[in-house]
Amino acid sequence: MRVLLIGSGGREHALALGLAADPSVEFLAAAPGNPGVAQVAELHEITATDPAAVAALAVELAADLVVVGPEAPLVAGVADAVRAKGIACFGPSAAAAQLEGSKAFAKDVMAAAGVPTARSYACTSPDEAGRALDELGAPYVVKNDGLAAGKGVVVTDDRAAAEQHAADCGTVVIEEYLSGPEVSLFVVTDGTAAVPLMPAQDFKRLADGDAGPNTGGMGAYAPLDWAPDDLVDRVLTETVEPTLAEMRRRGTPFSGLLYVGLALTPDGPKVIEFNARFGDPETQVVLALLESPLGSLLNAAATGTLAQLPPLRWREGAAITVVVASQNYPATPRTGDVIDGAEVPGVIHAGTARRADGALVSAGGRVLSVTATGSDLAAARAAAYALVDGVRLDGAQFRTDIALGAVEGRIKL
Ligand code: AMP
Repeated sequence: MRVLLIGSGGREHALALGLAADPSVEFLAAAPGNPGVAQVAELHEITATDPAAVAALAVELAADLVVVGPEAPLVAGVADAVRAKGIACFGPSAAAAQLEGSKAFAKDVMAAAGVPTARSYACTSPDEAGRALDELGAPYVVKNDGLAAGKGVVVTDDRAAAEQHAADCGTVVIEEYLSGPEVSLFVVTDGTAAVPLMPAQDFKRLADGDAGPNTGGMGAYAPLDWAPDDLVDRVLTETVEPTLAEMRRRGTPFSGLLYVGLALTPDGPKVIEFNARFGDPETQVVLALLESPLGSLLNAAATGTLAQLPPLRWREGAAITVVVASQNYPATPRTGDVIDGAEVPGVIHAGTARRADGALVSAGGRVLSVTATGSDLAAARAAAYALVDGVRLDGAQFRTDIALGAVEGRIKL
């Protein structure tokens, strides 16, 4: 199988490593990729959000499968353009990617499908927003309607801050606050069959103890020993199957990766958000534990043959990933700092670049993540933080408490 991977972040480096390790993948290219991806794939410099350019590259490379990592190319219609050339694509159509592209659309689908989620109002004016804030009360949850790379959500007790975010965004979804630990569940689907991956937990806030602003994600771990045994089955029945059925009913079946962000509330698991692609950095830990070949799994989803795939196999033990971000991330990340110690196994590249003199430098907010496995979470944690210690980057920010609550048995359902 000849595979073209679209994207340039840590998620794509993890996907590239998984694809390169699959014996059925005989050729791997990536566009635009990053210096980590370059170690296992041939890189092509194109604009990932340009559907015609991606489709043309897929044809030129005689790709059998295109795997789209990030949301923006999906929302732009990259999967549609690739399929129009008769090439299989892992990732939803632009229409189906609206499950992530518009929070209001996602809420509408959830309501139609009877999916458990927070009560919410789509608001387009300060007056409407004010009424929704009155009705739902604090803590206030105000979400930018469109794509915001995981950073468009404000959760606050401060009414003025909630109103300000609503005013800044224009169209927002204001919703009821959901309490309880959060879980990310990835589901691979061909539109009908659904294969759940291992649930993971990510850490959205910048600083230890869940302090600081929301980010794209500062770390993750799996498995979740504290989660209820019936969690995955329950989410498949209550959320995934009705959502896929509703998308088929609308004539826009969803295939690819349905990311279900959940809060395990006292009333059961409720959906916080859907994404239309693998989450970053949860992908790093989930794929580190996946033993089954990744290329075959994604290809089965892209070709409608998922039901024929053998059950997935998982490695024993646990995995954790710790994100290393640049100074001033997420507000105004500083770039161009030299990175040392990052070219070792376990270091996943995200915002890195190769300078003309060959030095590796920071080129984004989340610069890299280190991923380690171990016989249990404590061992995986120790291994990951040992790797972080080996990385040198001026102004680096990282959390020191990824998976700590789980190791210490402090997560309460
Ligand atoms: P989202 O982009 O929708 O995933 O939101 C980002 C983060 O904001 C989530 O991971 C949660 O931590 C928080 N959040 C979003 N919606 C809610 C909600 N209804 N109740 C509580 N926290 C939320």
